[in-house]
Amino acid sequence: MALIFLDFCSIYLFLCVMKGLNLKRIVAFCGVGLLLSCGGDGEGGGTLFENLTGLTPANDVELGKQVDDQILSDPEQFPILSKTEYASSYTYLNAMMNDILESDDIVYRELFAWDLKIIEDDATLNAFATPGGYIYVYTGLIKFLENADDLAGVMGHEIAHADQRHSSDQMKQRFGLSLLSGILLGGQSDQVAQIANGLASLSFSRGDESEADEFSVIYLGDSDYACNGAAAFFQKLLDEGQAGSTPAFLSTHPSPDNRVEDINAKAETDGCSTEFILETGMTYEEFKASLP
Ligand SMILES: [Zn+2]
Repeated sequence: MALIFLDFCSIYLFLCVMKGLNLKRIVAFCGVGLLLSCGGDGEGGGTLFENLTGLTPANDVELGKQVDDQILSDPEQFPILSKTEYASSYTYLNAMMNDILESDDIVYRELFAWDLKIIEDDATLNAFATPGGYIYVYTGLIKFLENADDLAGVMGHEIAHADQRHSSDQMKQRFGLSLLSGILLGGQSDQVAQIANGLASLSFSRGDESEADEFSVIYLGDSDYACNGAAAFFQKLLDEGQAGSTPAFLSTHPSPDNRVEDINAKAETDGCSTEFILETGMTYEEFKASLP
């Protein structure tokens, strides 16, 4: 069982293409987590519709755990930083996540796992989350960004994809319930592989991406972070000239410049603070230096 969703995967694909990385690696990356699991006991606040269509919020957590187990079993592709060896790095990042999760707009604060892991890969500008709140952040993204607020913005975006259950919806639309149900019931590896092989073309809809951007502003508006932090990633892509020609697979997504505009417009409408956070413990530069 297992279902995953990609997120910044679409952006990663874009960057890979721009950098000329090979397709096999892209497929391998994007395929990984996308397994789907099910259960269906209806626990976790599932509605009748959700029970009939197969995935409740409690199922999301189960799916996320399956994906997390798979990721942990593949350290070659997902070199997770040790939580004991890099305790100070995790303390910094978990404090950021927990601050964001304090927002009243988080629906599944108690039910979801909200487990965060750092993947040691400086060449990858990405972060992603599974259903049920397992979140992964690459060292490449952390080092690419310049302020804690920027990373908090991306994290808010990822939290929104999990909390708004975009991943579950995307998996159902892309693969259909019969295939997912088969995996959920039996966990056949060939079916899991079928899903994994199809993942390169799986991405969130324009609506889901825009909604995740908006929720990032809303969550951060309840925190001490600049509420438009999510715009920084896209702005930096623009500044460095990496967003000039959008490839076809991103054509259904808001372009980076539109996303910067939309995020900033949402921040202005909400009247939330766009001032950088005053860090009292480890600074963002110190956090980056704490990583390998
Ligand atoms: Zn996204």
